[in-house]
Amino acid sequence: MHPTSTTVTLIGAGLNGPLLATSLVKRGFRVEIYERRPDMRLVPVNAGRSINLALSTRGIHALAEAGLWDAMSQIVIPMKGRMMHSVTGELTFQPYGKDDAEVIYSISRAALNMALMNAAEAKGASIHFQRRCMGLDVKTGLVRLRHEETAEETTIQSEVVIGCDGSASAIRAEMLKLNRFNFSQKYLDYGYKELTIPAGPGGKHLLDKHALHIWPRGSYMLIALPNIDGTFACILFLPFEGPDSFAELATPSDLVEFFRSRFPDALPLMPLVSENYFANPTGFMVTIKCSPWHVEGRCLLLGDAAHAIVPFFGQGLNCGFEDCTRFLEILDRHGAEWKLVFKQFEESRRINTDAIADMAIENFFEMRDRVADPRFLFRKKVELALEAKYPQLFVPKYAMVTFHRIPYSVALARGVVQDRILAELCDPIDRVEDLDWTRADQLIRSQLSPLEQAS
Ligand SMILES: Cc1cc2nc3c(=O)[nH]c(=O)nc-3n(C[C@H](O)[C@H](O)[C@H](O)COP(=O)(O)OP(=O)(O)OC[C@H]3O[C@@H](n4cnc5c(N)ncnc54)[C@H](O)[C@@H]3O)c2cc1C
Repeated sequence: MHPTSTTVTLIGAGLNGPLLATSLVKRGFRVEIYERRPDMRLVPVNAGRSINLALSTRGIHALAEAGLWDAMSQIVIPMKGRMMHSVTGELTFQPYGKDDAEVIYSISRAALNMALMNAAEAKGASIHFQRRCMGLDVKTGLVRLRHEETAEETTIQSEVVIGCDGSASAIRAEMLKLNRFNFSQKYLDYGYKELTIPAGPGGKHLLDKHALHIWPRGSYMLIALPNIDGTFACILFLPFEGPDSFAELATPSDLVEFFRSRFPDALPLMPLVSENYFANPTGFMVTIKCSPWHVEGRCLLLGDAAHAIVPFFGQGLNCGFEDCTRFLEILDRHGAEWKLVFKQFEESRRINTDAIADMAIENFFEMRDRVADPRFLFRKKVELALEAKYPQLFVPKYAMVTFHRIPYSVALARGVVQDRILAELCDPIDRVEDLDWTRADQLIRSQLSPLEQAS
């Protein structure tokens, strides 16, 4: 507990805001959250907000620290690997990890968001809905708010403001006006559309529910994640323009024909594919990097507001939750010395959020086209064989990011070394049995230190 009456103002009751609020209230702070949307527990969730998320070790750790994982574990479905669907309907299963403990969890974004808001309120945080942050005076801490229904404008004074307001952060927009604020944003030429596979008779899942399903098609793909109600949340990733793009799918018959020829085994499972496609917005994907994340101990950016990444490593949320873990560790060390806490937080975190941003882009290409390549699948098998023999030295990059909490920057650097080793070992062979274990031993022992030393 911190002997302080400081009120911390959080902008945004998405995923990071309420999680952070829960832990701040526990530490004795008063927390007020301002959220521009209506309360999703009372009004239906907008299309595009119900996409599922893959939750993994970093996110689970943060939830457990906040005392929330036991409750959340009731609303997740473990996914043991990727199930690839070829155009001819063949299925290939590729496990994510070396055993059943190394799984990722599918969770509904809306269900998670509501559970986090309930938890924050139960602890004592206040959430003010339909209050859009219109700006912040970073010198005085005056926050301007507008009521989304009445358009009434108000101001509040806050000692500390944390922008958890996502990739289009209003707080970051304020910081952009300052001298020497670094900012970059890079959009993918790809967008995404949310679709659904309904539950079968008796609420049964129509596909294996313990897999993340992927229909990789070179320059585009469809994925599906299971929900506990028997449905699958699907995401269609397509280029905005050009062949096989959103621009080309202008009518229901274009769409059905596209699915019939590209995803023939998925189409019969999606009776509402046209309705979903034309009703739901097309989302975009952006990588945002900026610095500094804080101004004078007065305001801080956290989560997507500080570092939005593309979704292909399933880490945006996990990374944001890890921000919360790190922030609270530093806060516990220094107390409400905000300037110092914010500075140390950014210093320890930005190198890692930059690393996961780069790995997420790289994974886009892996999921989109390489998962269907037999040589890639062979390398994955060799990776698992090497990990089985050298569990502390050779851990696949996917596993380092997803099942460990070693810094992302370390995972990135070790991944580069491991890729070089894998290329040398795999290029001359086609079967795991033919692996040159003597050479593998030399390369691994000389080039990789034990994993725990790296963390
Ligand atoms: C298609 C897709 C799939 C994804 N899949 C995964 C995945 O599998 N695993 C994973 O870990 N991550 C995934 N992510 C990333 C994840 O969704 C984000 O990293 C996460 O939502 C970030 O949380 P946040 O709280 O920082 O921002 P958000 O969840 O975006 O929340 C921000 C909140 O702030 C509010 N807000 C915005 N502006 C204002 C304002 N001016 N005033 C008041 N309130 C405001 C918003 O309404 C919102 O509620 C995915 C993202 C996408 C787009």
